[in-house]
Amino acid sequence: MTPVFDNSYARLPGRFYAPQAPTPVAAPVLLALNRGLAARLGLEAEWLAGPEGLAMLAGNALPAGAEPIAMAYAGHQFGGWVPSLGDGRAILIGEVVAPDGARFDLQLKGAGPTPFSRRGDGRAWLGPVLREYLVSESFAALGIPTTRALAAVATGERVVRDGFARPGAILTRVAASHFRVGTFQYFAARGDVDALETLCNTLISRHYPQANTPLALLEAVVAAQARLIARWMAVGFIHGVMNTDNMALSGETIDFGPCAFMDAYHPNTVFSSIDSYGRYAYAAQPQIGAWNLAQFASCLLPLMGADEAAAIEAASAAVNGFGPLFQAEWRARMGAKIGLAAAGPEDLPLIEGLLGRMATEGADFTRTFRGLSTGAAREEFAEPAAFDTWAPEWRARLAREAEPEAVMAGANPVRIARNHRVEEAIAAAVAGDLGPFERLMAALERPFEAAAEFVDLEAAPRPEERVSRTFC
Ligand code: AMP
Ligand code: MG
Ligand code: MG
Repeated sequence: MTPVFDNSYARLPGRFYAPQAPTPVAAPVLLALNRGLAARLGLEAEWLAGPEGLAMLAGNALPAGAEPIAMAYAGHQFGGWVPSLGDGRAILIGEVVAPDGARFDLQLKGAGPTPFSRRGDGRAWLGPVLREYLVSESFAALGIPTTRALAAVATGERVVRDGFARPGAILTRVAASHFRVGTFQYFAARGDVDALETLCNTLISRHYPQANTPLALLEAVVAAQARLIARWMAVGFIHGVMNTDNMALSGETIDFGPCAFMDAYHPNTVFSSIDSYGRYAYAAQPQIGAWNLAQFASCLLPLMGADEAAAIEAASAAVNGFGPLFQAEWRARMGAKIGLAAAGPEDLPLIEGLLGRMATEGADFTRTFRGLSTGAAREEFAEPAAFDTWAPEWRARLAREAEPEAVMAGANPVRIARNHRVEEAIAAAVAGDLGPFERLMAALERPFEAAAEFVDLEAAPRPEERVSRTFC
């Protein structure tokens, strides 16, 4: 059965997007199909895996009802303003409504050039496609709001990156929507208040039906981002490219480029090869989130009434709400990681005391927290005595907790998408072996369960296995 599309974005005024069909590829091969997600969407996995489905996932032939478009947006890239970005290598083929009524965008990433491609080729290579598949699906398994990966297809064509001819691929990304901070910025920069109003109303009805004013929308988006970024921090995740065009207003994590989970904990950790100054370093993420939200807030000002001074004051207050909301969420998440069901402000020194020692002693983020339950945490410290100076106070605090073991078990994954394993899976896939990718994906689908068959995937990288740079 072909998908049934209902394309609300394509019904918006023409200046919101450019109609753009995918460019067909030479020899599509289905590399991965997410059957669980297909079921969630109400799509038939058998159809997707068949000739018509593959043609859709490769962009070679779209079923009736699809209306492919490239969305218009602007953005601040590494702080620099770019008035026109848009989907340069992603094409929204349409929206589907799941059996439970939830609406999802189906987008082909790497489906060929669009009017927004500038000098780019509109394509993607296998490496970033598999990275996004693995990391976004591991996020879903961790319960962190994220776009999803429905399928990965090899194109049978080559894509030149960094001077190498790489195997081309297309990712089918599924998102609650693709409204970005940069979508609002695109129209705000053009003084197009009608478009801003349309965007605002559409976003409210799609994601924040309880918000009845632009200010209430702003507050809801601020809260969603505070929750989201706190959750990244609690799994040691570094997004890598928190440009305003890569912040989804739905509250989902979007655009998994040179992203990574930390191995050894350090707040200044950066992986992205293009982030020379550490703008998007691990510990910088909350401040950058707030900065992006300030850009969003400024786009909403024209919708916030004739009294400009009052609008600015209200919008500033909403953006300033990010700090306390983030702090509270961070404390709750990090508190749970050390076994506290409801960490209070008085518990902050305990949490920070552990993190400080982890940074000094090069302790592995994931293994240290998981090791708190098994007694193995101290072995993660170069100097285990550093842990021993922290542990007594922690144990004393745990004595006042009802079920610290259960709290920790639910907060500390045993497996994350470690960089060296992701790279290993990509290298094998490039060589024609999807086995490591499939095995890693299977392991990441159950992140909280220890499993003898996956112990190698739980280990930190040996020095020679460490991956310190990621590329997009
Ligand atoms: P990103 O860094 O992935 O968020 O992309 C930033 C901008 O560059 C977006 O407008 C993308 O659509 C565009 N872009 C990235 N890669 C390509 C490519 N290979 N071809 C065309 N446009 C691209
Ligand atoms: Mg992007
Ligand atoms: Mg990207």
